[in-house]
Amino acid sequence: MKLILLGPPGAGKGTQAKMLTERFDIPQISTGDILRAAVKEGTPMGVKAKSFMDAGALVPDEVVIGIVRERLQKEDCAAGFILDGFPRTVAQADALKDTLHSLGKDLDAVISLEVDTEALVERLTGRRTCRECGRGYHVKFDPPREAGRCDVCGGELIQRDDDREETIRKRLEVYHEQTSPLIAYYSNQALLVSIDGMLEISTVQEKILAHLQAA
Ligand code: ADP
Ligand code: ADP
Ligand code: ZN
Repeated sequence: MKLILLGPPGAGKGTQAKMLTERFDIPQISTGDILRAAVKEGTPMGVKAKSFMDAGALVPDEVVIGIVRERLQKEDCAAGFILDGFPRTVAQADALKDTLHSLGKDLDAVISLEVDTEALVERLTGRRTCRECGRGYHVKFDPPREAGRCDVCGGELIQRDDDREETIRKRLEVYHEQTSPLIAYYSNQALLVSIDGMLEISTVQEKILAHLQAA
């Protein structure tokens, strides 16, 4: 299963990707997670990426394209993968096409999660993430059993630096300008599957699975 999860910040890409990796035993490739890990470690790439991320802007194409190209060649991607948060520009989508072509792979589907802008702001301001294992929560829509603690590992739940209202608005603007053209891009390639991302987390998951099983 070779999938892309497409959608604006807060659409539920990470949430759905985590459930799909368990279900199909294939890796989730989140460029956001990889970049945040690089920032934390202070690698040269992380240092370069940080200012873009803090501003809610996209990290330059060549940086993320390099990350994904390398990652897709790893052995654990042999049976498939879920790209979460990549591609985000037409240039990234074109580069992905070349990379997959050279590896002899084809995408099965691009799942587009559609969510209203007002709902996105509420989702992102209430998003919390486990510092230890990275599992995502929402203070209202997907709360942990114990406030501030991860259900899975007991780790501390933290709020991302870029999930502040001002940066959120900037990220949504960037999405509309640079990423939303990919909806038409993949629709033209007959790969796009539109899913109503306003439904409950478990219902969205069921709809994605129903589509993948029917395909
Ligand atoms: P969200 O899940 O809220 O959309 P991500 O974790 O995917 O956020 O991304 C966080 C930030 O990392 C983005 O705002 C951007 O700065 C950077 N980033 C992640 N993926 C990409 C990408 N494919 N291209 C450029 N920048 C990216
Ligand atoms: P993305 O990776 O697309 O930025 P996330 O998966 O991190 O989005 O989800 C953003 C926030 O919204 C998280 O706090 C998550 O718990 C919550 N969330 C995800 N899917 C839904 C949904 N279908 N309904 C309500 N809240 C959701
Ligand atoms: Zn945890």
